[in-house]
Amino acid sequence: MKKKYGIHWFRRDLRIAGNDNLKQNWKQCDRNVLGIFFFDAKFLSRSDFSHNRFAFFIKTLKELKKELQAQGGDLLIVGEQAEKAFPQIFEYLNKNNLELPELITYGADYEPFARQRDSEVKKMLESYGVKTHSGRDHLIIEPTEILKDDKSFYQIYTPYYRRWFEKLTTPEVRSRLKSVENTEAYYQRLKAGDIEKIFNLKWSDFKNFPYPDQLDFYENENAKSVTIKIPDAGFKVAYERLIEFQDKADVYADQRNFPSLDATSQMSIYQKNGSFVSAQIITSLKLSDSSSQYLKEIAWREFYYAIMFHKPESEKSAFLAQYKNLKWENNKEWFQRWCAGQTGFPIVDAGMRQLNTTGWMHNRVRMIVASFLTKDLLIDWRWGENYFMKMLLDGDLAPNNGGWQWAASTGCDAQPYFRIFNPWLQAAKFDGDCDYIKKYVPELKNISAKAIHTPDGDRGPLYPKPMIDHTVQKHKALNLFQNISVKSAGSGPVK
Ligand code: FAD
Repeated sequence: MKKKYGIHWFRRDLRIAGNDNLKQNWKQCDRNVLGIFFFDAKFLSRSDFSHNRFAFFIKTLKELKKELQAQGGDLLIVGEQAEKAFPQIFEYLNKNNLELPELITYGADYEPFARQRDSEVKKMLESYGVKTHSGRDHLIIEPTEILKDDKSFYQIYTPYYRRWFEKLTTPEVRSRLKSVENTEAYYQRLKAGDIEKIFNLKWSDFKNFPYPDQLDFYENENAKSVTIKIPDAGFKVAYERLIEFQDKADVYADQRNFPSLDATSQMSIYQKNGSFVSAQIITSLKLSDSSSQYLKEIAWREFYYAIMFHKPESEKSAFLAQYKNLKWENNKEWFQRWCAGQTGFPIVDAGMRQLNTTGWMHNRVRMIVASFLTKDLLIDWRWGENYFMKMLLDGDLAPNNGGWQWAASTGCDAQPYFRIFNPWLQAAKFDGDCDYIKKYVPELKNISAKAIHTPDGDRGPLYPKPMIDHTVQKHKALNLFQNISVKSAGSGPVK
């Protein structure tokens, strides 16, 4: 085996179509590219690790492996972190007089932990004389591409979006979008089983390779802890979901806030692991108007990524310095009731039960439950953020952290602390007929909408009474923030 070959290190870019880094490797190494994926024990033992999301990830990896193998390629799942496994692999290759790979490619990752790891791995790979290439992947416009004139980053969404949209229309970004224009054609071929053998190398071409494939092992181990039905995964089903949404795209702006309607795309679970990316969504839906609400939502995602990139400390603490030491009450029993969907606030409970039973929650309801946890129960937003990460199939550091800090008023361009959601009014406005509430809180099936939306309404013996009084708690929340604001007044501009 003396031919020139490359390795593509898959991370959160689990697709072939529109994967520019994989393509570059494929071109440079004359189609001899092998896929590899590493499971890192550090990641698997995180406090916000989700067995459900992991199961969805494994399902996506399986689809990808099948797709690669159908095209003459391969994917190896290694139960070791990249930092340790690559040197072991190189040692094996040297011992067996085999060539080291010509090129190792991987998609850019913008999260603090991944950036640190990637810079170390890159140095290590290059110390072996192996070339590396890592380019843009799931973001259309990277955090460093949109900066103010003084090179600082945007902290307010509206001007950020203006620049983001301007950039989207430049020839350079248009050509990036063009590179994914074959998404539909690829999908049609995949569906028809009309797949060309475009890869030329398999892991089985390496005899006595030190790492056996661990995909089945991880799948079986993890299956014991999965608590929900895991949806179908991979590029093909993601594209089908998008096509289903396409007919609703025109009414998205009007309907997206009503959780009883199936009015949003639910693409976030595929975006999270890169089986489908925003560039493919934009080109498939032919979105080109700056007033498109959907485009604005994609830009929110990129905005939160930019914030996390430029201010990585916000992963662990409040973006706004004056709110770093807010004195949250952190009542553990209240937190448990919130997690379980037993607060006595129907819209909050419906949202939490949707999360617990499906692994997804509607955006409007995410805002309501997050506001309720922080401003009504006075519980630290990081507790809620952590619980969301454990339960969400689309759990994604930057938008999750951004969403939580927005609701808690500790983030940049967040909800001002004095504008506190009233959960009763939110429910009446966005779920007037209680279709959503009744779907997830069956104890309320025979209760009138009026009783459900009234704080002291009679909701029957099966459903708990509201655990707190919203008006009382709202004043406590205002005090919490005002005390800090008074104390920090005069301490200079807040960064
Ligand atoms: P659609 O309405 O169809 O929107 C299209 C796409 O735009 C989404 O797939 C998503 O990529 C992006 N998007 C939409 N709304 C937002 C938003 N508010 N912020 C950032 N991007 C957005 N999103 C995640 O992907 N992962 C998370 O972990 C996450 N946690 C959140 C936590 C809180 C407290 C809040 C308020 C929001 C959170 N969001 C998160 C954002 C948003 O709720 C989800 O992206 C959205 O509900 C996904 O459903 P969808 O694909 O049907 O969205």
